Amino acid sequence: MALKKADLILTDIDYVLTMDENLTVFEKADIVIRDGKIVDIGKEKKNEYFGRTVVCKGKVALPGFVNTHTHAAMTLLRGYGSDKPLKVWLEEYIWPAEGKLVSYQFVKDGTELAVYEMLRTGTTTFVDMYFFENAVADVITEVGIRGVLSTGILDFPTPAAKTPDEGLAKTEEFIQKYKDNLFVYPAVGPHAPYTCSPETLKKAYALAEKYGVVYHIHVSETEFEVQTVKEKYGRTPVEHLDSLGVLSSLTLAAHMVHPTEREIQILADKGVKVAHCPESNLKLASGIAPVPKMLEAGVVVSVGTDGTASNDDLDMVGEISTASKLHKGVRKDPTVVNSRQALLMATRWGAEAVNMGDKIGSLEIGKYADVVLFDFTKPHLNPVYDPYTQIVYSAKGTDVDTVVVAGQLKVLEGKVLPLDREELLEKANFWKEKVLS
Ligand SMILES: [Zn+2]
Repeated sequence: MALKKADLILTDIDYVLTMDENLTVFEKADIVIRDGKIVDIGKEKKNEYFGRTVVCKGKVALPGFVNTHTHAAMTLLRGYGSDKPLKVWLEEYIWPAEGKLVSYQFVKDGTELAVYEMLRTGTTTFVDMYFFENAVADVITEVGIRGVLSTGILDFPTPAAKTPDEGLAKTEEFIQKYKDNLFVYPAVGPHAPYTCSPETLKKAYALAEKYGVVYHIHVSETEFEVQTVKEKYGRTPVEHLDSLGVLSSLTLAAHMVHPTEREIQILADKGVKVAHCPESNLKLASGIAPVPKMLEAGVVVSVGTDGTASNDDLDMVGEISTASKLHKGVRKDPTVVNSRQALLMATRWGAEAVNMGDKIGSLEIGKYADVVLFDFTKPHLNPVYDPYTQIVYSAKGTDVDTVVVAGQLKVLEGKVLPLDREELLEKANFWKEKVLS
């Protein structure tokens, strides 16, 4: 039998957790990649192909993580003004620093630092909302990680636009530039129901609908927001957005900490996706999102780290571990948000949250080869009774050893290939001096 050509063959993987509909697991299996996609997967596949081979003995493969809510460039403000009340933190630390420094170069350098950490810990797609998304797109294009990118649109002037209309015009330009890109997926990013007028929210939605892109918005993050929206519009945040007609399967609502039963039903009925950000919600003392209730109602719940100024890392393994344990504790029920659901939130459901479920989120023939391999030869990951629980409860993001994005090796033996570590540290310290001066 003639051998078929492959670009990359990952062989002898201890366990492949495909995260497909049936949660298929292959043991001692191979993943065959050609033209950026998975062309074969399973036992003894390596014997049918020739091409670059990476032996993955002792490793566990998963789809790359999808971080569905972050502000990547905020790595440069990591740890700045921590442990303060939210209002003090924002008004005395974050906003003044951003107002003074946020620029193309700030965002580019901050995003590089973020992308290093994300790749190192197994994230292959991230959903961003910040300013100067062209800088984020430039990093993504150079490095080769996927990003769903939106410029934050607010009713007051931002570093990127003086008015919301200018923000929307820039967003449309950005969508047109990147609409068929392999790595950059444009989105529309109205900041929140309390920072955007009904008019801005509706215009932003019309733009998302016109191009069929994600409508990425913070919703029901704090009690302050719920109160403000109620006072202003006589409705809770989800009801308010629903009355404006901006809730659909295009809508990705970040946080969703304080929804009522009725609001959860609206989310389910409208097919709205949620980006759950437990560590940020805990650190900023915003509260705890009712994730088990949302899952029971049939809402697609994914996981985001939020920016590193409020987390303070981009490690999706830590995030799902927190999520899983948090909801067990709150519900006094150890069966909720189990390890399989936690990993689904970080993979397939994350892909579905940004309407990329047909492209990524599981390891299946025909999907992009976005693959993460954990090194299970480490003592703290043994013995292995169940690889799912081991990743969620025992592993750290840094146990990721190999990362492939669109068939290209980006991390090998823990080394992030496209980025220079020393250079990143220099840039981080350069910006620290600027923030403090
Ligand atoms: Zn956020």
